[in-house]
Amino acid sequence: MSWMGFGTYDDGAGLKPALALGEKLYDLQQVLKAGAPPAKQEWLAPEGVRAMLGDWQEAQAWLKAAAPLAEGRAQEGGLKPVPDAARIAPPYVPQRIFCAASNYAEHASEMGTELAAKAQSKPYMFLKLSNTVIGDGDTILMPPETRMLDWEIELAAVIGKRGRRIPVEDALSHVAGYTVINDISARDLNVRSDYPFKHDWFQGKCHDTFAPIGPWIVPAWQIPEPQAVRMRLDVNGEPMQEDTTANMIWTVREQISYLSTIVTLEPGDVVATGTPTGVGMGRGIYLKSGDRLVASIEGIGRLSNEVKAEAL
Ligand code: MN
Repeated sequence: MSWMGFGTYDDGAGLKPALALGEKLYDLQQVLKAGAPPAKQEWLAPEGVRAMLGDWQEAQAWLKAAAPLAEGRAQEGGLKPVPDAARIAPPYVPQRIFCAASNYAEHASEMGTELAAKAQSKPYMFLKLSNTVIGDGDTILMPPETRMLDWEIELAAVIGKRGRRIPVEDALSHVAGYTVINDISARDLNVRSDYPFKHDWFQGKCHDTFAPIGPWIVPAWQIPEPQAVRMRLDVNGEPMQEDTTANMIWTVREQISYLSTIVTLEPGDVVATGTPTGVGMGRGIYLKSGDRLVASIEGIGRLSNEVKAEAL
C-alpha cells in the first residue's frame, strides 16, 4: 500500500474525518460510498478521529483495508478529493499533551541548560492544555505579554492503547500513529524571578494557539522506527531547525514508559517528544507578526502557520 494518513477537515458545514492519500484528503463517507468495508458510525462523526483512536485495533484494520481501495477508486476517477478550499482542521483536540523538555543535547546547550548524565536522570515532562491546539493553516496568536515568541518542531506520538507502567520494550505497541507538533513557546514568560520557582511552564507554553498540530496522523506501521525520522522547520522560507530523531536523549519508548509510571496513558493522549537545536532563542531572534512557520517531518507532512499579534 502507498503512503496514507487520517485527519479531519472543515468544508464550512462542520468537521469531517478524512483519509489523506498523496497529500489529498478524501472524505470518509465518500470512501465508504466508493466501496470500502463497513465502518463504525462513530468514526464518521466530527470527532471520528478521536473515536478511531479509542478503538484503534479495529480502526487500524479498517484503515489498512480502506486506504488501498480508496487509492484505486481515486485513480479511476470514481472518488474525488475534498476541495482545496476546505480547511484542514487539527486531526482532533487532544485532552492531554505531554511534552519533553530539553530532550536533544544540542538544543540543551543552545539554551544554556546543563543536564545530568542520563544514568542519573529521567525525562522532564510538562503539559500543554487543549486550548493551545490549532491545525494546519490556522493562525498563531502572539500575546502582547511576550517579546520572545519562539518555535519548536517536534515528533508527536499519538497513543492508541491504554497502559500504566508500560515496559520500554512494549511502548511502541501503545502508539497509534505520529504527527507533527510545533511547541510554540514564550521564552520570557517561561522564567520567573518574582517567586522562588524559576520556571513557569504554564505561562510560557499554554497560551491559546500555542500548539499547531497535524496536518494529519500517520499510522505507526508507516514509521516502524521513530528514532530515525528527519524533521525541519522553516521561518519565512529559511531553514532554522534540521535534525533527526536519532539525536533524542530520551527515546519515544523511554518517554512513554516514564509517563506511564505517573499516569495511565489513554488513547488520544499526545506525547510531544522534544525539539532539536535551531530555535530562535539560540539564534537571538524571535517571531513577529506576519512570520510564516513551516514544520515538516519526513513521512508525515507539512504544518504551516502564520503568526499574528493578538488583537486586544
Ligand atoms: Mn518543546
